Amino acid sequence: MNFCKNCGNDIIFIRTANGNSMPCDPKPIWVIPRDEGGKFMAQNGKLVTGIRAAAQDERVVVGFVPHFGTCPTINKKSGRKKQASNANEQLRLI
Ligand SMILES: [Zn+2]
Repeated sequence: MNFCKNCGNDIIFIRTANGNSMPCDPKPIWVIPRDEGGKFMAQNGKLVTGIRAAAQDERVVVGFVPHFGTCPTINKKSGRKKQASNANEQLRLI
């Protein structure tokens, strides 16, 4: 298990399609793919845009939440709004 250097929480690294490692929260979630919504990492390293689902059904894919969006230390330091836009910028580079 890996730990976030900022907050010490458990994280996992998902290898993205272009070979980078994305730190994510270790708990998988369900995502309903949509044209708009949050950005999540699928287990295969692909980026999934969509909304979180409360329960599993045939529409959902398993995804992981990128940790830089949820890290309490990073969010506290830079302000939540700013961090959200940074997260989107980082995700565009993938
Ligand atoms: Zn953290």
